[in-house]
Amino acid sequence: GQDNAFPWIERDIGIEFNEWDVPVVDRTTFQTTREGVFVGGDAAWGPENIIWAVEHGHQAAISIHALCEGEALTDRPPYGMNLVSQKMGLHSWSYGSSYDDSERSKMSHVELVERFKALEVEVELGFDPEQTAVEVARCLNCDIQTEFTSSLCIECDACIDVCPVYCLTMTENEPEEELRLYLTAPAENPDQDLYVSENLPQTARVMVKDEDLCVHCGLCAERCPTAAWDMQKFDLLIPYAGKPTWIETPETALTTS
Ligand code: SF4
Ligand code: SF4
Repeated sequence: GQDNAFPWIERDIGIEFNEWDVPVVDRTTFQTTREGVFVGGDAAWGPENIIWAVEHGHQAAISIHALCEGEALTDRPPYGMNLVSQKMGLHSWSYGSSYDDSERSKMSHVELVERFKALEVEVELGFDPEQTAVEVARCLNCDIQTEFTSSLCIECDACIDVCPVYCLTMTENEPEEELRLYLTAPAENPDQDLYVSENLPQTARVMVKDEDLCVHCGLCAERCPTAAWDMQKFDLLIPYAGKPTWIETPETALTTS
């Protein structure tokens, strides 16, 4: 195995070490007990994955920038998010919105005999161009989400008819436990999130969507004659050292968390 080892850090320079013999690091600022010395990655809290190491680097950079600017390290810039409609025309979208229920492609592997001949050989051969095209079409577009504007809905039922996974229902509003049983596909698992709209203009019913079933195919938005359903792209806006969290444009509606 491998251990963190810091014999090269002198123990009398103000950096405290914990019982694992790694530097004591503030989880918000990534600063050690000595001002101006920052630590992240495995050296701070033991093995984590590389994604966390990158995040630690970002956070430490924000702290270093604040320190150089004479600002409080604990004042962290906010994360932001925005949602932008992906509609490009009457029936065109900026992403592949067609619903494709094809099976997962089978990856080819090097034959066993060949693998044993040379143990360093790469076993997975990857997808061929045709398989790659199929796999790309299976993408669930997790960054594209449905947005509903109840005031635009004329209750034509077109979205409910077209949804391939039956996750939309228009119904009287009821307490959640009962509502779950009235859905086109009943949602009996209380851990499944439901979206319930404002009252619809004509009948005061509500549009309900089972968020766990939605495959983000966009067919509801494609079919909706009034654009009550829209497909919007979610962007998480990450703060960087010395830069604003986002660049606001007239097209981007912004909220911060
Ligand atoms: S995007 Fe979701 S709600 Fe809309 S049709 Fe597709 S699966 Fe149904
Ligand atoms: S297709 Fe549009 S207008 Fe028709 S019921 Fe669905 S959301 Fe409402």
